[in-house]
Amino acid sequence: MQAPPVPIKTERPRVVVIGCGFGGIEAVRKLSKAPVDITLIDRTNHHLFQPLLYQVATAGLPAPAISGPIRHILRHEIQRGNLTVLLGEVMDIDARARCVVLDGQEHVPYDALIVATGATHSYFGHDGWAAYAPGLKTLADAFDIRRRLLTAFERAEREGAESPVRQSWLTFAVVGAGPTGVEMAGTMAEIAYHTLPREFHRIDSRQARVVLIEGAQRVLGAFPEDLSAKAHEQLRTLGVEVLTGARVTHIDAQGLSYETTAADGSVEKQVLPARTVIWAAGVAASPLGRALANSTGCTLDRAGRVVVEPDLSVPGHPEIQVVGDLAAAKSYPPKGEPTAVPGVSPGAKQMGRTAAANILRRLKGEPTQRFRYIDYGSLATIGRRRAVMMIEVPVLGHVKASGFLAWLFWLFVHIYFLIGFRNRMVVFMDWAWAYFTSQRHARVVPDPMPSKRSP
Ligand SMILES: Cc1cc2nc3c(=O)[nH]c(=O)nc-3n(C[C@H](O)[C@H](O)[C@H](O)COP(=O)(O)OP(=O)(O)OC[C@H]3O[C@@H](n4cnc5c(N)ncnc54)[C@H](O)[C@@H]3O)c2cc1C
Repeated sequence: MQAPPVPIKTERPRVVVIGCGFGGIEAVRKLSKAPVDITLIDRTNHHLFQPLLYQVATAGLPAPAISGPIRHILRHEIQRGNLTVLLGEVMDIDARARCVVLDGQEHVPYDALIVATGATHSYFGHDGWAAYAPGLKTLADAFDIRRRLLTAFERAEREGAESPVRQSWLTFAVVGAGPTGVEMAGTMAEIAYHTLPREFHRIDSRQARVVLIEGAQRVLGAFPEDLSAKAHEQLRTLGVEVLTGARVTHIDAQGLSYETTAADGSVEKQVLPARTVIWAAGVAASPLGRALANSTGCTLDRAGRVVVEPDLSVPGHPEIQVVGDLAAAKSYPPKGEPTAVPGVSPGAKQMGRTAAANILRRLKGEPTQRFRYIDYGSLATIGRRRAVMMIEVPVLGHVKASGFLAWLFWLFVHIYFLIGFRNRMVVFMDWAWAYFTSQRHARVVPDPMPSKRSP
């Protein structure tokens, strides 16, 4: 008979990392070379490259091209012997007892903790809209959006030519014109105007409307005004109707309502019948921020992010670090005032590395270091051959570009940063094929008509 497994006794410090996104994975990689025992906990079994999630939602790439099993990605670290990966959802953090509470009530103790659970959607207090206007954050969201998008054309094909409902199935609204909203709207227009024509008999997919609705006065508000204007123009040439200064007031299964304010201050209310609405407007921090606040008394900002110390630790708890989209962190350059760190993947990766380095410094009795964010610039794609970019080039400083050149650069960067050689090859081949054929491969929807649910 085999003897029961003997628990391995260890005197090494226990570091728990919650979340295997951009921040968590970088922290684990850095920690795994040190004499510590790491437990990485994630509620999914995969690491996800969110910047290309819209490609899965719009049937351009299959899910495995932009994601990979955590156990495989970190297999070398696991084989090194000091990394344990647990699939589970962290429900709470007990800062006094120094343990995290998993679903099923398992308690995982820590000497040092990194919380890297990212962000989720915010509907600005209208959570009921979520059923009609899904946001894009996880693979499950991407599959849901892909199903809604593709089946909308099928539903339109089933409606009679005179049916008033047909056009509402052919109207696609995207709320929020940040990078995700812009790339979703641009790609949806490409599907309607370039991928699907000639595949339907009763409808002409080119009669679809793609409407991008933004509350602010311009698209891509984080970019300089000239690049916003160029992005707006590129969306227009793709056939996207862009509504700026339009505030969405209601969303249901039939479509949405919005308000615009005229120059004389009068408010005009409009209704847009649209059976497919995508929410790309609001971001809220992971609920674990609230759990940390309850446990440690730390402050949360308006988006629910944890206000951290300059070294990314929670005030009064140097053993807890918060990184990535969950952290309201500042960057401390050698000269000048500290600046807020944006919620982007390079920020999360850099914070993950700094948090890990600070844990190792504390273990050696050395002082921790303040976080410094290196900004390499911003990129947003709008569709085939269309993008805008603003990057930092040594010696040259800010370099701005739009159109084909920016799009090529965007392609290169996104392929380069994908994890794994196979993913890079798959994405490169699929994009090359799509470029020459306008086709999108990942259009198979396993469950096109879930009973009684609006697609
Ligand atoms: C659609 C989309 C497009 C984007 N495009 C870009 C882009 O082009 N460029 C760019 O720089 N940034 C982009 N971003 C932002 C970027 O992806 C984030 O800034 C980055 O992912 C933040 O990293 P993170 O580690 O904080 O969180 P995430 O990468 O979101 O990882 C969080 C991890 O925590 C896990 N988790 C969450 N809660 C729990 C829990 N309770 N228990 C256990 N595990 C949990 C999740 O499963 C996930 O694996 C985009 C984001 C989205 C959603």
